[in-house]
Parts: sequence; C-alpha cells; structure tokens
Amino acid sequence: MKKYKHLFFDLDHTLWDFDNNTAEAIEEIYTIFNISQWSFFTFNDFINVFNEVNNILWDKFNHGKIDRMELRQHRFPMILTRLGVDERVIPTGIGEKYLELSPKKSKVLPFTHEILEYLKPNYQLHIISNGFDDVQHSKLEAAKIHHYFDKIVTSDSSNFRKPQKEIFEFAMEVAGATRANAIMIGDNVDTDITGAQNAKMDHIFFNPNKITHTLNVTHEIESLQQIMNIL
Ligand SMILES: [Mg+2]
Repeated sequence: MKKYKHLFFDLDHTLWDFDNNTAEAIEEIYTIFNISQWSFFTFNDFINVFNEVNNILWDKFNHGKIDRMELRQHRFPMILTRLGVDERVIPTGIGEKYLELSPKKSKVLPFTHEILEYLKPNYQLHIISNGFDDVQHSKLEAAKIHHYFDKIVTSDSSNFRKPQKEIFEFAMEVAGATRANAIMIGDNVDTDITGAQNAKMDHIFFNPNKITHTLNVTHEIESLQQIMNIL
C-alpha cells in the first residue's frame, strides 16, 4: 500500500456541513430581513433558489468567469429577482449579513471529528478550498476543527482555483509534500477529483449522495468513516 504522509481535504460539503449550516444562516436572513413580506414565495422557495443561484455563481467562480466581489455582490439580488422581487426594493446589507452569519455555523458531516482524530497522529492534514481565507478560517474555528490542519490553502492564498492543477501544486509545495506521498479528499467531481487528476495526485472521491460518474478514481467512499479502510 502506498505510504501517504500528507492528506489534503476539501472543506465545504466534505467536512463542514454546508447544506445544514447554510439552511440555518438563510433562516436567520429570512427573519432579519423580513423576507416573508413577499408573500408570493415561501421559505422553501427562498432556500431552493439560494442553492440554485449559489451553485451557478460558484461554478462560474471556480472556472474564473467571475471574481470574489461579483460572487458576493450578485448572490442575493439574483436570488430575489428570480423569485419575483423588484430589484429596487432588495434590502441593503443582506449579502454582508449572510457572509457574517454563515461562517459562524458549526455543523460538520458525520464522522468528521472521529476521522480527523484518527488520522492526526499519523498524517499531516491540510485544506485545499476554493473559498476565501477569512470565511474558511472562521468555519474551521466555528466547527472546532481548525487545530487539526497544518496548511490551509484557499483561492485567496494561492491565486488559483480548483480544478487548476496549480492550486494543488502550490498546496503540496507549502506543505512540503510530493505527489508520491499526498492524497486529495473531496466531494466535488469537477473541482476536487478532476483537479487532483489534473495535478496527477491520488484522490478519494467522497460521494455521500452516490452520484453516478465515469471517472476512474483512486478511491471512492460514501461515508468519511470509510477513510479508515484506506488510510
Ligand atoms: Mg466541497
């Protein structure tokens, strides 16, 4: 079996429970900004359109089509106009409030603490995330998992984005890792898995929703607990 020394984790949807944490933040936004004043859509519509728009914007960001400012500025105007709200009455500060609330959420996916505790004595653990420095550090602290990680590489600190091979190469360099002793663990076929393949790194595809794909992956797991069978 290959001897790995450095494990590079994705953060959102891999360790940090993006869906549940976001739902909590969106619920608070719904109350604070009195979103129910627009009675022609429900809270469920709001969260569904949030997820839809957020995915579209992140996909554009991941592929360099928009920058951080555009992602942050366009999110809520896009969501609310899609739901039929007049652009001129969209409350100011809603995007900022979301950015303040969301990174303070602490839920992690099942077995996050257990697997990090299991791995920590034998490996150096790092993060490679397309998120932003301030936000990702807050999430790691809120979830009480910051101390497990040595290097935290983001799109900010590297100036590259997954699936670009350069962000993986940058991360390996700052961590003192090589392709021979490093493995990437992430949930996203496009950014994490194709990215790791671009960088010729071994990888573990965390696929809790059992999506079908045609990629030839190094390992695939449905639960983080299954990392124990590999590492
Ligand atoms: Mg992810």
